[in-house]
Amino acid sequence: MNDNTTGLSQLIKLVTNFRDERGWGKYDVPRNLATSIVLESSELLELFQWDLKTLSSAQLKKDKDRMEEIKKEMADILIYCFSLADDLGIDVSDSVVKKLEHNARKYPIKYFNKDRQDNDYYNKVKAKYRANKKIK
Ligand SMILES: [Mg+2]
Repeated sequence: MNDNTTGLSQLIKLVTNFRDERGWGKYDVPRNLATSIVLESSELLELFQWDLKTLSSAQLKKDKDRMEEIKKEMADILIYCFSLADDLGIDVSDSVVKKLEHNARKYPIKYFNKDRQDNDYYNKVKAKYRANKKIK
């Protein structure tokens, strides 16, 4: 299986079959899954803990052992994301496309492109976003 030949629904089915065969579905409640996503994300971040210098992607790709660990932690994160999507009936593809559309409106290409990164505009966007998120 690889990204060119595997559909997202196939992957989600593999994850849910694995879970169901072991009787672990009873643990898959949203709070547990969200917690697991954060914990697995921390395990990914831990692979970079105490790095004295920031490695480029090209440098990192040469470290085969570390790349294997990164793959494993990324898979753990995705597995829990797919489980949460399945549990809540979320269509992952639709959610990603809609979020990218939202982000495109939030960060217009005229302000953010290969020739320009407008930090003033970025700070205005973030301030507006945070103001709208306040508890009323
Ligand atoms: Mg892990």
